[in-house]
Amino acid sequence: MGTVYRSCTLCEAICGLEIKVEDGVIKGIRGDSADVFSHGHICPKGPELKAIHEDPDRLKFPLKRVGDKWEQVAWETAFSEIAARLHVIQTASGQDSVAYYAGNPNVHNYGSLLFAPRLMKAIKTRNIYSATSVDQLPHHFAALKMFGHPLLVPVPDVDRTDYFLILGANPMASNGSMMTAPDMRGRMKGIQKRGGKIVVVDPRKTETADLADEHVFVRPGKDVYFLLSILHVVLAGEKKKTSRLESIFQGADFVRSLVQDYSPEKTQAHTGISAETTRRIATQFAQAKSAVAYGRIGVSTQTFGGLCHWLINVLNAITGNLDEPGGAMFSLPAVDTIAAEGKRESFGSFDSYRSKARNLPEFGGELPVSALADEILFQGEGGVRALITSAGNPVLSTPNGGKLAQALESLQLMVSIDIYLNETTKYAHYILPPTSPLEHDHYDIVFNMLAVRNTARYSPPVFDPPAGTMHDWEIFTALTAAMEEARSGGAKKASSARAKIKPTDFLDRMLKSGPYGSNGLNFQKLVENPHGVDFGPLVPVLPARLKTIDGQIDLAPDLMRRDIERAREAMKETPAGMILIGRRNLRDNNSWMHNIPRLMNGSPRCTLFIHPEDAAKFGISDGHEAIVRSRVGEIRLPVEIVEEIMPGVVSIPHGYGHKKSGTKMSTAQKHAGVSINDLTDDSSLDELTGNAAFNGVPVEIRAASVS
Ligand code: SF4
Repeated sequence: MGTVYRSCTLCEAICGLEIKVEDGVIKGIRGDSADVFSHGHICPKGPELKAIHEDPDRLKFPLKRVGDKWEQVAWETAFSEIAARLHVIQTASGQDSVAYYAGNPNVHNYGSLLFAPRLMKAIKTRNIYSATSVDQLPHHFAALKMFGHPLLVPVPDVDRTDYFLILGANPMASNGSMMTAPDMRGRMKGIQKRGGKIVVVDPRKTETADLADEHVFVRPGKDVYFLLSILHVVLAGEKKKTSRLESIFQGADFVRSLVQDYSPEKTQAHTGISAETTRRIATQFAQAKSAVAYGRIGVSTQTFGGLCHWLINVLNAITGNLDEPGGAMFSLPAVDTIAAEGKRESFGSFDSYRSKARNLPEFGGELPVSALADEILFQGEGGVRALITSAGNPVLSTPNGGKLAQALESLQLMVSIDIYLNETTKYAHYILPPTSPLEHDHYDIVFNMLAVRNTARYSPPVFDPPAGTMHDWEIFTALTAAMEEARSGGAKKASSARAKIKPTDFLDRMLKSGPYGSNGLNFQKLVENPHGVDFGPLVPVLPARLKTIDGQIDLAPDLMRRDIERAREAMKETPAGMILIGRRNLRDNNSWMHNIPRLMNGSPRCTLFIHPEDAAKFGISDGHEAIVRSRVGEIRLPVEIVEEIMPGVVSIPHGYGHKKSGTKMSTAQKHAGVSINDLTDDSSLDELTGNAAFNGVPVEIRAASVS
């Protein structure tokens, strides 16, 4: 019996795991009670890493589609055939004719993070897409424009705050997002034990709202007006404290003048939140010893996502809660990619080029994924003719998935680096499956950057990779080399171009040059500390860590000043009828944990939540089915009549809609459900940032006839 300690790579909480192995078989996975960050916390998904590893549907060797059949193909054959076809396509249709899409699991895999950019460089395409523009661009956009770097994203100091204002986030189901904080239940109870208060603003009384001291319904997509009114009250009244950073704030006068137009009395008809409630919350926030506002999916994935995250940062700043204990703070991670970039004029690009078909701006070298289907369907020069996907299922996870599926069918070549034959990869010509998460090592480069405490932990592999399998980073390396060989007409041999360097070599270097390197932190030190190394609570890091050219914090960036006019205009619009929002269950993880039997037990989760008043209005009974129709599609699903949803709003979970035809995920097919993204609209996005607007979709509802 051996024991391996490593982090869970299934969600952003990065819990420490204790994995017992006997004779090459996992005997148990539980939370590592000695872990310096998670202290034994675990959710129902963590132990299911075993089920993923042992999943009989998991692919292990490369497949090539021949007619309507899949045939196993040797790795080297696959690499050289793929590279040759990509080269032909790019020669005929230009470099941008090859696109790349990275799904969410890539950020939980440091091998992919470190080696995928090499392939991008070899392909030289500007058609790069990822899950970032599905749900978090507004965070990065606000960080870039205000603090000078897209990764300088503040996180709530939940362990010390006295007032936690949560907008559109449900950490009880997500385990925390853009906020790495294992055991959010414990941390939230800690706030209450300290005498603090938690307020949730959400169109649904979520699991997090159940735990909070107060829940307030807000109309989907109207949070921007609530935030403007909160600032209106805060700036007109007394504040507990002023910010030590006030001397480097720019644009405060613009904010002060802007919010004068948005009294709570004026916005209440739009938000659905009474003026009295807004005034009370604003006053409590401003008067708290420490306070932090935090917004996530509900405010990120709407048409004003960028404005919402800007205003959240402004609120934290002007109440003296930016970069202060108990407020919105910044991590100082052991692998510090922000500091490593040194000083230069600009970090992160915006609008340096645009997509061909939709004319949408890039951000940080990526185009909005809402545009991908149109870019593939675009027949003119610069249209996408080939696509490489890595660990993603955008047919289920991006807006108007049905249209994307049709577009994928038209590709000259599609290659998927993925462990599953799913609703997206079934369109591929080649599937290249990497090793399981337990067969490769890991270090959390991304989530330590968003963590509520500074710690570091190395995750060794639990198993050696079986003979003939490849890690993600090895696949990226081999594809890169094959591309270079194809480009050179065979002069540069792929085998000689294979990288000799491994992810751990990068890791050691990055740790040594990071903020704790001078204290002796290196790869070996992490290996010797399997439960992690603790560097303590977050510490104030501004202004030193700012990356703005002038060293100032811009409270009113030009692009936000301009975009606020869009929000002002939208106030004149007549409210739509029924509005659709998404939701998430603790046992779901987007689309890809649905093949795990233990997580899918129990009553079906892919249902329509509707308020009793609306159900009566549409003649819908509990347990019956409803038909939901949007501009782009129509789906039919079972109904749950619940008080927890705001009248006028319906909710469907995301990640469902598993197909039988052409896929190989047997458990997921049994719990197929329907896809909310057959209703979400690829033409609806946050015009400021390009992020998809999943929340706030106008829909029509009717009872399905009972057969
Ligand atoms: S909370 Fe997230 S990281 Fe922790 S065990 Fe669950 S899925 Fe894994």
